[in-house]
Amino acid sequence: MSLHELTEDQREIRDLAKRFADEKVAPNAAQWDRDHHFPRELFTELGELGLMGVCVPEEYGGAGTDFLTYILVLEELSRADAGVGVTVAVHTSAGTLPIINHGSEEQIARIVPPLASGEELAAFALTESGSGSDASAMRTRATDDKITGAKQWITNGSFASTFLVFAKEGDRPSAFLVRSDAPGFAVTREEEKMGLNSSSTADLAFEDTPAERLGEPGNGMRVALRTLDGGRIGIAAQAVGIAQAALDVAANYAKERQAFGGPIARLQAIQHKLADMQTEIEAARALVWRAARLKEAGKPHTVEGAQAKLFASRVARTQTGEAIQILGGYGYTKEFPAERYYRDAKVTEIYEGTSEIQKLVIARALLGEAMRG
Ligand SMILES: Cc1cc2nc3c(=O)[nH]c(=O)nc-3n(C[C@H](O)[C@H](O)[C@H](O)COP(=O)(O)OP(=O)(O)OC[C@H]3O[C@@H](n4cnc5c(N)ncnc54)[C@H](O)[C@@H]3O)c2cc1C
Repeated sequence: MSLHELTEDQREIRDLAKRFADEKVAPNAAQWDRDHHFPRELFTELGELGLMGVCVPEEYGGAGTDFLTYILVLEELSRADAGVGVTVAVHTSAGTLPIINHGSEEQIARIVPPLASGEELAAFALTESGSGSDASAMRTRATDDKITGAKQWITNGSFASTFLVFAKEGDRPSAFLVRSDAPGFAVTREEEKMGLNSSSTADLAFEDTPAERLGEPGNGMRVALRTLDGGRIGIAAQAVGIAQAALDVAANYAKERQAFGGPIARLQAIQHKLADMQTEIEAARALVWRAARLKEAGKPHTVEGAQAKLFASRVARTQTGEAIQILGGYGYTKEFPAERYYRDAKVTEIYEGTSEIQKLVIARALLGEAMRG
């Protein structure tokens, strides 16, 4: 994909995010990873630049850009630190946008502005210990707008003020908003992960916790699936950002590292790896931009988003591995960021729908009724 395809406004905001990522995020990413540090203050700064509500309409305190611009911002932030990328992705597309899509005018006007400004963070709480892909098996329940149950692995869990929570009323899930200071709400545990160490992944408990309804009763799965349709495109952009970071480090290293009397960049084996990396990353980016443009145009994008995430996450996993290979032993050490990219990339094949679930979405559209046999 070429930057020439972008409008001036899109390029301007992408450049802003790139400068911020290079100056404020990338230099700290290794330390945050080591310390498992969530850089809360960074999101206030991002908010001041308008990057915590990039595609949120201006009337609700956002920057009012199109969805592709938001995707460009996510790629740039994730290139510097995938933990920062997922924090912004979940906050925006899984936490804030569903309030705009399903909330009343009063709810939007009250809840969205502090999220769009980065003053507060949002989270999306669907997964439970016994239900991930099979979200409808959730056990959290709601009665008279009070929630009881537990959620697991919630991004931004320890820092969010507003939670979009899914709970069953009768046998159908509904969507609710819960404030972190509500009685009966608790963050019970911060998860230890393989990567994404600068992001928060927490378990939550609810005991008769007052909640306000988002959308119609029994409509929770529709809210969740529509949210994930868009969210997935953001995770695909995160994967592209991680893969691009891996390519950048590998290409630079290939020009510097000497072996057998010259830089390893003159070895065809290394040239081919780098050429494949770049080609696959560009292909992934093309799928991501296509899905983002369809979403922006209000056209169906479920399959295209699934394809973008399936492909981009695979590229991120395999090509971060190739970057380590190009760096040889140094790639396996913490002296270079390639090993962090490798650890961070894996999760893009898991959250916001595993790769197997993306294939299911794609196959369903392809095969329709024939899938039932
Ligand atoms: C770092 C991190 C952050 C996360 N953030 C959030 C968050 O903010 N909010 C939230 O709600 N959740 C979050 N999650 C949870 C994440 O979305 C789930 O882990 C994911 O949806 C998969 O669910 P599961 O782990 O229960 O796996 P399972 O659903 O138990 O799947 C196990 C395996 O079976 C496969 N499988 C399951 N069903 C099918 C099927 N029908 N066909 C083929 N294969 C199938 C899966 O692909 C997988 O390989 C996060 C997870 C992680 C690791």
